[in-house]
Amino acid sequence: MSEQEKRGGGRTALDVLLHEDRIFDPPPEFASRANVRDASVYEEAEDYEAFWARWAEQLDWIQPWTDVLDWKPPHAQWFIGGKLNACFNCVDRHLEGSRRHKAAILWEGEPGDRRSFTYFELHEEVSRFANVLKSLGVGRGDRVAIYLPMIPEAAFAMLACARIGAPHSVVFGGFSPDSLADRINDAEAKVLITGDGGYRRGGVVALKDNADRAVERCPTIDHVVVVARDGEPGLVEVTMKEGRDHWYHDLAPDASTECEVEAMDAEDTLYILYTSGTTGKPKGVVHTTGGYMTQVYATTQVVFDLKEDDVYWCTADVGWVTGHSYIVYGPLANGATVLMYEGAPDFPDQGRFWKICDEYGVSVFYTAPTAIRAFMRWGRDWPDRHDLTSLRLLGTVGEPINPEAWIWYHEVIGGERCPIIDTWWQTETGGIMITPLPGITATRPGSACRAFPGIEVTLLDDAGEEVSAGYLAIPRPWPSMLRTIWRDEDRYRKTYWSKWPGVYFAGDGAKVDEDGYLWVLGRVDDVLNVAGHRIGTMEVESALVDHDAVAEAAVVGRHDEIKGQAIASFVTVKDGVAPTKELGAELQAHVADRIGPIARPADVIFAADLPKTRSGKIMRRLLKDIAEGHAIGDTTTLADPAVVERLRMQYEEDES
Ligand code: ATP
Ligand code: MG
Repeated sequence: MSEQEKRGGGRTALDVLLHEDRIFDPPPEFASRANVRDASVYEEAEDYEAFWARWAEQLDWIQPWTDVLDWKPPHAQWFIGGKLNACFNCVDRHLEGSRRHKAAILWEGEPGDRRSFTYFELHEEVSRFANVLKSLGVGRGDRVAIYLPMIPEAAFAMLACARIGAPHSVVFGGFSPDSLADRINDAEAKVLITGDGGYRRGGVVALKDNADRAVERCPTIDHVVVVARDGEPGLVEVTMKEGRDHWYHDLAPDASTECEVEAMDAEDTLYILYTSGTTGKPKGVVHTTGGYMTQVYATTQVVFDLKEDDVYWCTADVGWVTGHSYIVYGPLANGATVLMYEGAPDFPDQGRFWKICDEYGVSVFYTAPTAIRAFMRWGRDWPDRHDLTSLRLLGTVGEPINPEAWIWYHEVIGGERCPIIDTWWQTETGGIMITPLPGITATRPGSACRAFPGIEVTLLDDAGEEVSAGYLAIPRPWPSMLRTIWRDEDRYRKTYWSKWPGVYFAGDGAKVDEDGYLWVLGRVDDVLNVAGHRIGTMEVESALVDHDAVAEAAVVGRHDEIKGQAIASFVTVKDGVAPTKELGAELQAHVADRIGPIARPADVIFAADLPKTRSGKIMRRLLKDIAEGHAIGDTTTLADPAVVERLRMQYEEDES
């Protein structure tokens, strides 16, 4: 019998430490005009095929489907026989009626330059871009890599690909030439769309230069289309390779603004996207058209409570799935006005986001816990200088949000008037899976609440038994689920479907409380094991962040002779706080007091920064390498490799 079974009868895969009792009802004002007001939506969705079919009917189909679902684990097909075009659903269908001249995209560059596009103009831009791609020989089924800054052309390029049935593979503009080349080669892309450069924190990122170095190693690339950030060359010097490289503004004037849409099968690939690489080598996740569009359309409308006059801002980069589903496909399919911002949140100062919210009257705002913790660290003076009363709903995604960060977001940014929507989902799930519904759910700080209507989520142990704290699992198919890993069916099966037959393994640990609320406890790979207790990272980190001095924390288990593992904690303090030995001792006591002596960190290391992926997620596996004195693992998806090296040196010093 294992330690686990002796204590809990084998029913519990994870121990639960933290209790969070604060509860926030939907603001009555908000609830009374929410898109979804009645909790009966959950029961109505019990026949989930019928539920999703009702949403699918709200899209424009070229040919109707015959069957809603075919599920042969681990492969699902949705809306079989149906034909549609994702670009048509995001653009063309808004041209009739009152949305024709409505703003589709409001864009602000980091230096403060602005551009905007109505749906009518978006249609012209996208059609022109599609014709340019066609003129370079791109056809249905050909892959196109997109490596652009956050400029409107990034959205145009994605939609243009969708229009002509060419799956896109967007690579975040901050990735290195090697990472770009790996992704291009894996997808065997024929054309690369890049830019001369873009702004980041006051400097210019020379994208074309990176692209050149990547393409040297990419035999499948025939053409490179280069978008000039300013509409004309001059931002940075670029070398154009004759015959291969083309300025977009040279090709565009000859391209027509009329371009027929391809009738795509519901199960045709819309795009390939590589995961963030927090736990290891990125996976090329494949999303198809009908089911994906259905789920992102529905979740955008319901979760963000989207209204015709909203100004909707999701701060993600289009290089991540959040940018795909909730900057481009979901909001545009709903005919929303989408704000896009090119640059950093702290340029020219730490109030930039709030200045943007103020000036554009942003009403729905969606960001990541990493950003919220940075705002907390910078202090409330920055948001307090701006009028944020246009905001009516706040969302978060990407990592568990620590309750203190949630409360700060609620009070300081939301003025205690905006529901907070903590959305759990993954590149693989394509769309939101666990979330409050803003007009219905009483929210709890740190909980993503419950599965979206039509979605089922359960917690299982290794044996596949239901537990109250264990592995997050999805027992039935959902429309926007990944269909496979690009050209790696074996990895698809092994990664997600080998733990239990026909049940999706998400790789995260979670608990469910007495009221049925779900709490994501962290990644399964990161679980701590102290004296036989299996503890998620989230609870210990939240106890640390609960202390006034702490802005952000990451914990890992390091080998310990007696306990199996001891907890090493890496902590960044708020601006103006001195990281002293005394504070370290205080934090150890604070954690022991908040959640129990078992979780008391053995080490507290004050860090200027934590190692994060380029999408802002903490990479605990590297911290573990540091704490255990191992060689540092794969850092190719790391935002700033110097952070790890500094921490390693610091850790060794603290140890001696
Ligand atoms: P890789 O799979 O390559 O390691 P990744 O998991 O970081 O990378 P993403 O698909 O971008 O790639 O991230 C999904 C993960 O982010 C989830 O599995 C979960 O760990 C975390 N996550 C996202 N949203 C939330 C949330 N609201 N609460 C808790 N965790 C979240
Ligand atoms: Mg993952």
